[in-house]
Amino acid sequence: MYATDEYADIEQKILNGERLTREDGIRLFKCHDIAWLGNMADMVRKKKCGDIVYYNVNCHVNLTNICTSHCKFCAFGKDKDSKGAYAFSVEEALNVVRDAKKDPNLAGLHVVSGLHPDWTFEDYLERLQALHNEFPELYLKGFTGVEITHFSKISGLSVEEVLKKLKAAGLKAIAGGGAEILSDRVRTELCPKKATADEWIEVARTAHKLGIKTNASMLYGHIETIEERVDHLIKLRDLQDETGGLQTFICFPFLPKNTELGKSVKQTSMWDDLRTMAISRLMLDNIKNIKAYWVMLTVPVAQIALGFGANDIDGTVHKETILHDAGATSPTALSEDHIIKIIRDAGRIPAACDCNFNILRRFD
Ligand code: SF4
Repeated sequence: MYATDEYADIEQKILNGERLTREDGIRLFKCHDIAWLGNMADMVRKKKCGDIVYYNVNCHVNLTNICTSHCKFCAFGKDKDSKGAYAFSVEEALNVVRDAKKDPNLAGLHVVSGLHPDWTFEDYLERLQALHNEFPELYLKGFTGVEITHFSKISGLSVEEVLKKLKAAGLKAIAGGGAEILSDRVRTELCPKKATADEWIEVARTAHKLGIKTNASMLYGHIETIEERVDHLIKLRDLQDETGGLQTFICFPFLPKNTELGKSVKQTSMWDDLRTMAISRLMLDNIKNIKAYWVMLTVPVAQIALGFGANDIDGTVHKETILHDAGATSPTALSEDHIIKIIRDAGRIPAACDCNFNILRRFD
């Protein structure tokens, strides 16, 4: 099955279940045999996770797009006086979910937002608490390591105190965004105002200590090097060795449209997306779930990615706005029937789950 003799040693390690090194990861990014890479990742996926593909019936609630951070890769964040800037009142946030509740299978909320210059931590907390009070049955995942670092800074509370308050207000898990590339070089260039790599990791570490699960992501395809992608994966793998609290890893290809970087950076190719998905599965040997996020990958590529190591396809994603502002060409939501069909057509078993991967329904 070797791609070439050049990769025989790596294939043997994968077959033996041995951990891949940084050098192995870098070599894999240079491998042109994409079918071999897919086969390797798919074999590991099957061994670890079987044929179930998880999805959730979920709704995104982006409380505000007003943000002080001005990250160069972002098309969502706006200044207060910009066209299209908004900040939801408590009632407006509730209305988003009241509308999404027309779907009787709605199981979870994904709440992420901009870093509003005037909002206090209590403003975010109040909205979270209101969502939990009115919809206690919905699984609340929300806020990234970037937002939580920001809450700590504006409130004077420690990250641990912030997390305890969010947990008391109903938060069950933390979203994986904001990790971008965990490299100070990249962050200084692209998003110097927000959480550093160490701060992002410290939020996840503290959350795990408190029993709050988190997700992790990688935004790739901008100014990062292949070495920085691999180092990012290894930082997450090290964290997982230490805490075991990462539930899912999500690869986010950078969408350049409408961003400051858009003039100089081209969108990743499907091959880069599939290669990155497969290498993530192979390098992250201690993270069970690898997500093919159809909103960014597009539905057809996400479906193919199920054969490149992914075992999770996110969900119906009612009300997604962040990535569609960046030119995502995927639909703004998918019906549950459509998600089930995508998974079945890929030869796998769809299973609706909550944000903690508890299976609610499965369709063998
Ligand atoms: S990526 Fe997040 S923190 Fe950065 S500008 Fe956009 S909304 Fe703000």
